[in-house]
Amino acid sequence: MPKSLRDLTGDLVGNRALVRVDYNVPISSGRVADTMRIDASLPTLQWLLDRGCRPVLLSHLGRPGGVPNPALSLKPVANALADKIGAEVRFVGTCDSPEAVSASREIQDGGILLLENTRFLPGEMNNDPTLAERLGMLGDFFVNDAFGTMHRAHASTAGVAQVLSPAVLGLLVERELKALRVLKDPPRPFVVAFGGAKISDKIDLLNALLSRADRILVGGAMANTFLRAQGYYMGGSLVEDDAVDLAADLLRQAGERIQLPMDVIVTSSIKDPIAMVREVAVDQIPEGFAAVDIGPVTRKRYQKDLKQCSSFFWNGPMGLFEDPRFTEGTFSLARTAAEITNCGALTVVGGGDSAAAVRLAGLAEGISHVSTGGGAALEYVSTGGLPGLTALSSYSA
Ligand code: ADP
Ligand code: MG
Repeated sequence: MPKSLRDLTGDLVGNRALVRVDYNVPISSGRVADTMRIDASLPTLQWLLDRGCRPVLLSHLGRPGGVPNPALSLKPVANALADKIGAEVRFVGTCDSPEAVSASREIQDGGILLLENTRFLPGEMNNDPTLAERLGMLGDFFVNDAFGTMHRAHASTAGVAQVLSPAVLGLLVERELKALRVLKDPPRPFVVAFGGAKISDKIDLLNALLSRADRILVGGAMANTFLRAQGYYMGGSLVEDDAVDLAADLLRQAGERIQLPMDVIVTSSIKDPIAMVREVAVDQIPEGFAAVDIGPVTRKRYQKDLKQCSSFFWNGPMGLFEDPRFTEGTFSLARTAAEITNCGALTVVGGGDSAAAVRLAGLAEGISHVSTGGGAALEYVSTGGLPGLTALSSYSA
């Protein structure tokens, strides 16, 4: 049984390939503001076009909640895709209608059809089997290349995979799984860096990696919660109060393998661009100040740890990197990650904001793998499976 697009070796000329892509891209003033996800879909689309297939594309965009919303139309994506791939991309403003089915039969040689946002339909997110049946009429076989939504069983990801046969993985999903699978048994020493906002969002991932990692470097607001659990005064820092006990448990379990910041960058006000900013030891946080990045001593320490590893997984920025004053913790870690990649280490970044931070630092090319999926990447790394995968009957992990 075929499992990936590349296993389809027969003659595919004239076949309609129904492809679930992840075009959940930022739109601003009617234009696509970041084409990363469109770029990531091109290898699969080109593979299909090269074999004379007719790609019919389904995607969601944002959270319209099952009702049409013109602000979340995929129409601007059709133009951006046409520019990128150099083919004609027809857009039809529905994906569940006789019109969409006829359009799928009218695709010209070398052309592509993009259909409207699947989440305009009430049956999409609850994986309505009748909707999946109707979506199945749009193609002759199914390709799931929407890595960013593989952790959800929706009509256009899981349901339709049961209706169409073969139902296979696209090249992007295949590449993602290959890179992330290595983390099940990574080359040692294996170092993990965790940051970002919340512990509670990521407890499964934390638990899974706690047993696998030789060292865990903690930063970001997540570190604030750990520091609070150790009894430090955290002032006005973002601390997840409900997770302080959990943090204390994790510290007990992991012992010295967990590394917390020794110093932090603090500010008297996160919102005020001219507020006071200082570097302080973690036991010296002034009253009311908030910790917003790791400090220089911690940066050096984390860089040293990183330089000793053979593999590295990173989720969650080390600080409030969206503010140019607080990028250094995150960017310095990204620079070291690129350096060790250059020397042969395997480096993987997962998580929406983490990937954005690495790209903002201009270092994405220097990392072994920057995942296009946030939740999906984290779920795959922690559980080794994904609902969108199990739906592809032929796939075995
Ligand atoms: P990812 O999307 O990579 O999984 P998260 O969503 O968990 O990462 O966290 C990213 C967010 O955490 C960013 O918006 C960042 O500004 C915020 N953040 C990181 N450190 C801090 C901090 N010290 N204080 C407040 N917010 C922080
Ligand atoms: Mg995020």
